[in-house]
Amino acid sequence: MRLGSGAAVLRAEASGRDDVRRANLAAVLRLLHFDGASTRSDIVAATGFNRSTVGSLTSELERAGLVRERPGVVRGKGRPSNVVEPVSTSVHVLAFDVTATEVAGARVGLGGYILQVRRRLHAGHPRDVGKVVAMIATLAREMDARAPEGSVPLAIVVSVAGSVRQPDGLVRRAPALGWADVPLVALLQAELESDQGPPFPGAMLITAGNDGDFGVVAEHLRGAARGIQDVLYVRGERGVGGGVVVDGELLKGVGGYAGEVGHILVRPGGRPCACGAKGCWEAEVGDDAILRAVGRDPKESEIDDAISDVAIGRKRAIAGVHKIGSQVGLGLASLVNIFNPGVVVLGGSLGALYPTMEKTLHASLARALGPIREQATLVRSELGPDAQLVGGAEVGFVDLLDDPTGTLAALRGEVDEQGSGVVLESRSS
Ligand SMILES: [Zn+2]
Repeated sequence: MRLGSGAAVLRAEASGRDDVRRANLAAVLRLLHFDGASTRSDIVAATGFNRSTVGSLTSELERAGLVRERPGVVRGKGRPSNVVEPVSTSVHVLAFDVTATEVAGARVGLGGYILQVRRRLHAGHPRDVGKVVAMIATLAREMDARAPEGSVPLAIVVSVAGSVRQPDGLVRRAPALGWADVPLVALLQAELESDQGPPFPGAMLITAGNDGDFGVVAEHLRGAARGIQDVLYVRGERGVGGGVVVDGELLKGVGGYAGEVGHILVRPGGRPCACGAKGCWEAEVGDDAILRAVGRDPKESEIDDAISDVAIGRKRAIAGVHKIGSQVGLGLASLVNIFNPGVVVLGGSLGALYPTMEKTLHASLARALGPIREQATLVRSELGPDAQLVGGAEVGFVDLLDDPTGTLAALRGEVDEQGSGVVLESRSS
């Protein structure tokens, strides 16, 4: 959903006339966004374009303010190749992560750099949707105001621990938040339009997605599973979220809800789950289960208390986490059997406690079929609590990486000589 509906049409008209040029600019910008600073020679090698084409493309991106060039260092004979790098402060995505305990926000610049992070506890009131929406809007305003002059906001992207309908961002079910059929994106849009802040660009994207999906995208592109094409990501929180990358693509399913690993059955007749069923994986290994296992009351303690109990060597806590580990391994065994991932990334509390539960986890993971188990390497999340912010931001960069100059023109409200002459001055949805 976009703040202004006219912008997408405008961009389609403006960009339709030179698809090849647009695709070539996109290829170069994508390379720089994901690989960082590269020499012109690197770009020639990676894209297969000739030198003069690369020179002309990087110049156009530089004129748009998205990249900068500097002289390279001489290596061997001949002239040094110019180094081209993404300008992290040229554009930014405002990425958010709503969990059962907090709203986290980040301003992420081109190149995937996290330029600013804010975390605010919502202290046990995730059910209060209005409050959460207001927190996101306030943080978005604050972080946007801190962006350097001229940095263009591309998108606001919200990660939610739940099933989020696409493309309208309706949260169908988020058991850990107590949300059902919450029109999160529409509410956020209304909040941003009604507050007194300066208008965001009419063409700015506002969207929401699942925390497990964003997590697996982040770890696959920039984290512990970089370069691995088949990845399973599992995040321990109050609920358990997951995401799957198959052959380099995010697994979506028919409704975009694939990867709800928290609700696979691991113990028939087990603990009641927030979804209404019993014995779901998240009811057995989510944060509340971990707190009970270490001898704490989930109503009075935070997961960090359990993590520090383990860190200071409390025997009861360690034994409790061992128990949890075998239930974690049981769920993972099923998932590994189904998806045959090269890497399994554990995030959230499960990542934090993995070293303690490693033995019992692997003992029950052993029930997965041998050849499949042998290929799956278990690792802790590299991006940790930033994974959802980094992955969500990538969703916000998609349009720019598909059509760098057209997207920028639409966001800046510019119209080129082929355009309709309509200047987008304000939000008009
Ligand atoms: Zn459930």
